[in-house]
Amino acid sequence: MTPRLFCFPLVRRLRPLSVLLPILLLAACAHAPPRNPLAEWVPSPNQDERRPVLVVLHFTDQDSVQQSLATLRTRNRTGPVSAHYLIGRNGERFQLVSDTRRAWHGGAGRWGTITDINSASIGIELDNDGHSPFPDAQIDSLLVLLEDLCQRLRIPRTQIVGHSDVAPTRKVDPGPLFPWKRLAEAGFGVWPAESAPPPPPGFDPWLALRAIGYSLDDPAAAVRAFHHRFRGREGTELDAEDLHVLYALTAPLGTPTAPHPDEGDAP
Ligand SMILES: [Zn+2]
Repeated sequence: MTPRLFCFPLVRRLRPLSVLLPILLLAACAHAPPRNPLAEWVPSPNQDERRPVLVVLHFTDQDSVQQSLATLRTRNRTGPVSAHYLIGRNGERFQLVSDTRRAWHGGAGRWGTITDINSASIGIELDNDGHSPFPDAQIDSLLVLLEDLCQRLRIPRTQIVGHSDVAPTRKVDPGPLFPWKRLAEAGFGVWPAESAPPPPPGFDPWLALRAIGYSLDDPAAAVRAFHHRFRGREGTELDAEDLHVLYALTAPLGTPTAPHPDEGDAP
């Protein structure tokens, strides 16, 4: 009670300053460059914010958007988690973390040479109880968001993966019901060409799994994640069709993203 009586007239008198000061302080903090004391600071204007290079898709394994909004914004019994976006079953989109910030969604994992998934990625949670199909409205909404992210942040369209891809020993989401083929038909992620020839003699499926991005620390877990992603089924052993799919996936690998025309290249 006492602070309100004291502050109210002060705030009214100083309203312009009280409104401006936090904004000025925030602006100063946002642009304050972290300077390494080991080197002399000689700043260059030729730079911008670092950008993510990967999108990781999750299912919430919960019963409602409201429940997940609480989980993704509180400390929880098992520790604080978040994601950049949450998409409801009816397609409504929520953003919880700025694209330029590091959301805590990936945990320990690896994709190719990326070992800090959270630093490299945008995390998208899909409201799903873990065993139901994903409604068309939800996938339509995801496609709109992926188009925006890939265009605006220049994330390669091939670099859309599932949580189980990057953490196959710990995670199963977004699960075997997620429509990866539909995403690929819309131009996101990778999918084997149906016209691909059979693999040649000596084709090594383990090298292919690694080339796609899977860690082979636990080969059975990697195969289970691969089956979820590309075969829509369970299983931890490779069969002849898997080899065909792996050969089709690894024949055409993606090309590097072209830089912006104004962006130079250091000597
Ligand atoms: Zn997940």
